[in-house]
Formats: sequence, C-alpha cells, structure tokens
Amino acid sequence: MQKLSRVNYLKAVLLLAVVVGNIFVWYAVGRENRDGYMTVAFLDVGQGDAIFIESPTGNQVIIDGGKDGAVLRRLGKMMPFYDRTIDLIMGTHHDLDHIGGLPLVVERYRVGAVMRPLSIKDTAISKRFEEDADTRAGMSLFAMRGQGFDLGGGASLLVLYPGETLDEKDDNENSIVAMLSYGEHKFLFTGDASQNIERKLMHMDGELLRADVLKVGHHGSKTSTDPQFVASVRPSYSVISSGCKNKFGHPHKEVIEALETVKQNILGTCESGNIVFRTNGTDLTLLTNKKGNSL
Ligand SMILES: [Zn+2]
Repeated sequence: MQKLSRVNYLKAVLLLAVVVGNIFVWYAVGRENRDGYMTVAFLDVGQGDAIFIESPTGNQVIIDGGKDGAVLRRLGKMMPFYDRTIDLIMGTHHDLDHIGGLPLVVERYRVGAVMRPLSIKDTAISKRFEEDADTRAGMSLFAMRGQGFDLGGGASLLVLYPGETLDEKDDNENSIVAMLSYGEHKFLFTGDASQNIERKLMHMDGELLRADVLKVGHHGSKTSTDPQFVASVRPSYSVISSGCKNKFGHPHKEVIEALETVKQNILGTCESGNIVFRTNGTDLTLLTNKKGNSL
C-alpha cells in the first residue's frame, strides 16, 4: 500500500518534472562550443556502467556512475580540471554498479539535473542517490517514456523506457533506456534492461530502434540481448561494459553469438579500456585507450 501511494505521488511529481525539464532544455542550450563534435565515452569503471556525453555545444551528461570512485578518475581524463559542472546525471536504476559512484560525482561537481527511475530500492546507496537528487541537484526528474532533452547543436536525448508500469520484484525491469541522436548517428543506452524490455521496445518502436552504437544490456548477461533485438538495432558497434574476470561470467557466450548475427564491431571495456566515439553528425570515429591514446 505504501508503494502504491508512492507511485501516485510520483505520477503527480512527474507532471511537474516534465514542465521543469523544459526549463532545463533552455538552460542547457548554448554552452561552450565544441567545433560541432559530440563525444560519447563508455568509461572503464570495471564491473558496472558509466557513460560520459559531451554535446556539440558543450553540455555534459553522465549516464550511470559505476560502483565506486573509479568514475571520478575517468571523468578527470574527459573533462578539463576547471570544469566543475555537469548538466544532467541519469541513474538508469538502483543497482550499486550503476549508481554507486554517483554520490561522489554529485559531491565534486555542480549538477544541473538528476534523472532517476520511478522505482525505489531499500539499500543505503539507493537512499543516498534519492537524497542527493532531492537536495543537491538543481532539478530532480523522474524518467518517463517520451521525455526529451535538447543537448544543443542538434543533439538530443530521448527516454524510450520505462512507461508507467513499475516492476516491484526486479529493478532491472525498471531500467531507463534512452536514445542519443546527432545528425546521422544514434547511440542506444540500455542500462540493465532485460530481453523482456527489449521485446517491449521492439513492439513500440520497431525500426526507430536502429542505432549505430548499442550499449549492450546488463554487461553482456544472457538475461539481455535477444537476437531479434540485435536485428532491430543493427548496430555498427556494440559496447559491453564489464570488469575483467568478473564473478558473473559476463559477457555470456549467448550474447556474443547474438551480437555476431549482425556484421559489426563488438567492443568491451575490459579489453579496450575507455571506449570513446566522436562524431560531427556525419563522420563517426572510435578511440580506445588500450591503443596508446591518452584517454
Ligand atoms: Zn548492472
């Protein structure tokens, strides 16, 4: 009963969040110029996810923050030391390997807005994340399909999932899924979304799921990456964010086989370190820091 009342409360807050989100859009537009290039970096934070985005106009977004302070060291490589602001932080769901490092980010950077899922989890890190979102960020938003952020210079981030339903047993089922678009290129971020969510997305979005770069769901666990989903996305690059020799055995061989049904490059943060894409909307280039690059 308590959980139900929270859902109703959140729905009410969501209406406000959508309105406030629009204000953020205008705040976000028009920061420092990056010569028309957008950067998308899958940070090597071991077993977990952390993604850094810098739009063509310099707006910065972090999707997840890994499990610990590793994200700060990686961000230090991506952002100049004098830049102490991040425009939007998105925590895809409440697992430690996604939000564990975010309180440290919020401590060290001024954060414009935090986007979080409607779900809650009874853990210390989840409570801390919620508290930070409510008290330390400029704005707190609840993710809902259809919300969009104009990141400036023609780049945008669109929430594809979740809709209004909440899964109270498995928080991966509430994972935020979002699509980043700039010019001819798209990046699909899936958090720990399961095959169940992938099938819902295929049903709702069909051909619109096509993306150049797919962040593979759940670190390459076989609970994600339905071969049909891969066929819908048809990525040129798939990125698996997982730790070397992790206890879960990620990535699972079924996932690699599913990804191999499409001709593409399959990359992992374990082997490649930071995986960084740069695009001007037309060209798409890839850098990894295991090839002598200072990323
Ligand atoms: Zn995870």
